[in-house]
Amino acid sequence: MRTLENLNFDNSFARLPERFYQITEPQPLQGAHLISFNTEVATLLDLDPCQVTPEALANYFGGHAPLPGSESLAMKYTGHQFGVYNPDLGDGRGLLLGEVLNQAGERWDLHLKGAGKTAFSRFGDGRAVLRSSVREYLAGEAMQGLNIPTTRALCLIGSEDYTRREGMEPCAMLLRVSRCHIRFGHFEYFYYHRLHDELKQLADYCIERYFPHLAADENPYQSMFAEVVQSTAELVSRWQAYGFVHGVLNTDNMSLLSETFDYGPYSFLDGYQNDYVSNQNDHQKRYAFKAQPGVVLWNLACLGQALLPLVERADLEAQLERFGGLYEAAELARYRERLGLVAQDVGDAALVSSLKALMAEQRIDMTRFFRSLSRFDGSDEALGAVLALWPDPSRVTDWLLQYQARLDLEAGTSSDRQACMLAVNPKYILRNYMAEEAIRGAHQGDFTLVNDLMTLLRTPCAEQPEFERFAGEPPDWAGAICLTCSS
Ligand code: AMP
Ligand code: MG
Ligand code: MG
Repeated sequence: MRTLENLNFDNSFARLPERFYQITEPQPLQGAHLISFNTEVATLLDLDPCQVTPEALANYFGGHAPLPGSESLAMKYTGHQFGVYNPDLGDGRGLLLGEVLNQAGERWDLHLKGAGKTAFSRFGDGRAVLRSSVREYLAGEAMQGLNIPTTRALCLIGSEDYTRREGMEPCAMLLRVSRCHIRFGHFEYFYYHRLHDELKQLADYCIERYFPHLAADENPYQSMFAEVVQSTAELVSRWQAYGFVHGVLNTDNMSLLSETFDYGPYSFLDGYQNDYVSNQNDHQKRYAFKAQPGVVLWNLACLGQALLPLVERADLEAQLERFGGLYEAAELARYRERLGLVAQDVGDAALVSSLKALMAEQRIDMTRFFRSLSRFDGSDEALGAVLALWPDPSRVTDWLLQYQARLDLEAGTSSDRQACMLAVNPKYILRNYMAEEAIRGAHQGDFTLVNDLMTLLRTPCAEQPEFERFAGEPPDWAGAICLTCSS
């Protein structure tokens, strides 16, 4: 186990040519103090949580002293924002501190978000506010708990500095930890600047670091694209099956390793709603819940475009054409898990699509519905609990009869099925009101709920009676929460 002072850094990205980034130091936050420390993420870095002090975390991750072994830099990338190419992007408020190699041979990027202005800040102040930092911090753990690929964070640092967002708000910094900070937009930058040598260098870097098993393929870039298409389809299938809305699916927020990346105005649906828009700045509803698979495919096409100097167009298009089938298969697999279906029946896709239509029609809270369905055993009591969640229960009775008949095709026992379902159907989910309550506390200097929610969301399928109040319906005021790009 290591201390903060001797983490095992090996900064491969910093060894790339300077066209890839700008060396930049963090700008310290006044009154930096620790809000929360994620001991689970610490162990990914071989960091001994017992040897870490709040003061040291605030010092290093509040931007006051460089972490020994780090080489901080702002990455250059570009990307398509809301469908329009923007050549001026890059790390405008975050810095890659370096990469930690752990004993298991895993390589983890450390990225300090909110670290001050960089060469790519444009009109921005380089800061992140406490509100959005709390939301990102909680989101990483919530997604991890749901087994949805995601970035996470080692710690959250508060400060006495303020900046203007929705009025004046306190600044914060978050140490994001992830396997990958390469975005689709990294490739777009070199492609649109016609820097084809650098484009190849970036692709070679990615293959060596992330796809070494593809290095000997006839065209490793094509193989890499095929894997990204597949893993992205799987990622978005998980979003759709758990009611997650990202909010800003621009190509600069798409990770090459298909982790949910760059949390802003995201939501988990309270009521299932296809045209739910989580980001109030998204006037065209481009990133509505149901639009996500299509948008993600569009983003993959942008990545494919940027790979044209390395892969034949027809080969890229062939990979893009696989997306629809991959997505549908992945989504069906997720729903089968949630419904406790181990066998595969030809009628399953229709059973799932009629359920989705009913959930949308009745704006069902899918989290609570699947949880109650996990205790469905044919008894009147269990049936009553399921029906009680439907504004018009008569709408779902036919579907439940079909489901019951479908369960008869399963080999396992009812109690086996219930155990499997209870392990994939969370009792708790990070609803916007919960994050909002944690933010209100944090603004008052009370970080209890931030830390409690981290604990709760890490095992959202476990019964946690002390948090029972988060298992019910959201309060009325939840509907008035307004999320924007500044969230
Ligand atoms: P996002 O909407 O968070 O994906 O950010 C889009 C782009 O704007 C990225 O290049 C960010 O680095 C940059 N950006 C966002 N917020 C700020 C800020 N407060 N200061 C400087 N740059 C920012
Ligand atoms: Mg971003
Ligand atoms: Mg962002």
